[in-house]
Amino acid sequence: MYKENKSINHGELMIQWLKKQISSRKTLDSKMYIIVLIIGTFTNLASFIITCVERLAPAAIISTFLCFAAMGVFWYLSVAKDMERYLHLPMMIIIIYVLLPLAWFFCGGVKSGMVLYFLGCLFLTVPCLEEGKKRVIMYLVSLLWLSGIIAFSVYFRPDLVTPLSDREWFFDVLVSLALVSAGVYFITSLIVKAYETERKSKEALLEEMEKLAKVDPLTGLNNRREMFVLLEANEKLNDGQHYLMMLDIDLFKKINDTYGHLFGDRALNTVASILQANAGKGQEEFAARYGGEEFVALLCCKDLAEAEKRAEAMRLQIFEQEYEENPGLHISVSGGMVCIGDYSDLTSALSAADALLYKAKQSGRNRILMDKVK
Ligand code: GH3
Ligand code: MG
Ligand code: MG
Repeated sequence: MYKENKSINHGELMIQWLKKQISSRKTLDSKMYIIVLIIGTFTNLASFIITCVERLAPAAIISTFLCFAAMGVFWYLSVAKDMERYLHLPMMIIIIYVLLPLAWFFCGGVKSGMVLYFLGCLFLTVPCLEEGKKRVIMYLVSLLWLSGIIAFSVYFRPDLVTPLSDREWFFDVLVSLALVSAGVYFITSLIVKAYETERKSKEALLEEMEKLAKVDPLTGLNNRREMFVLLEANEKLNDGQHYLMMLDIDLFKKINDTYGHLFGDRALNTVASILQANAGKGQEEFAARYGGEEFVALLCCKDLAEAEKRAEAMRLQIFEQEYEENPGLHISVSGGMVCIGDYSDLTSALSAADALLYKAKQSGRNRILMDKVK
């Protein structure tokens, strides 16, 4: 019982190890290389065992053993000696220029399914080799070489080919068709899957980057760049109902100096969440971090009185916010608020809000001044 469990574990371990061999390789040619080696090693080992058990001609036994040994050596050098980067091309050369011709002559030549393996291996030159001239040259030269082998065996030395009976020929073609088409199907699926995975991960990365480009990393509010994008995209900005509020935390340098920068960051976050919660009621409203401890909010209000009421509510909420680690501390903000429609352009509206903010600081802080020019 114990032994059985142990052998199951060995099998699972082996499969896991093989899967790891494939998944740990990043490029497609590297993945294909190891897949070809894995399949090549096991199928050639199986062929070698079958030829031995059936006591076929010594040449067949030797050639299947050589195929198995070549694959095994490549595999060993790639995994144990970390030489894979040098071996993609040599492996293809050995397969196409040595192993395929051997198999051609031992397994029936043109009257067998071998030509399908030729096709499969020519197809492999694409995923197994890096993109570029090397691949094209390898494909063309291999095509010439394999065509030459076929011509040689048909016209010059048909006596070198070990013949198959018609029945064997028929079954060989069927089995070869199934094996080669399964291989091509598997490899093509892998390529399509790799392409899809890469496309999806690129899309996700792009989405993430776009998000990062819009958001202030500390507070999660829109950053200054996104603030301008949102403002410039808003066609109703001048309808007389869009109010721009600019806020600056009072004596923030002192807060940092007294309570530390980490607490300063937390305070920035708290102010940001209050603004986010209050300046997001209309669809077009938003809050943004304009600079270090400066914020901008766009509010949609039917008139100045409503705008003033909302600004005052925010100022009060910020001032009354409790900070667990510093009980009794009150952080205040000063600000300026303007109706964008009262100005010729956005820049003048921003400057006017900034001027009001400055005035609020001058007149004692902890207040938001409204532009009552109208
Ligand atoms: P005032 O009332 O006149 O605005 O005074 P203030 O101290 O707030 O203004 P000042 O411009 O002198 O200082 C702003 C401070 O904000 C200085 C800077 O270290 C701090 N600050 C800016 N960005 C951050 C931040 O991301 N985290 C923290 N903790 N502090 C910041
Ligand atoms: Mg300040
Ligand atoms: Mg400031």
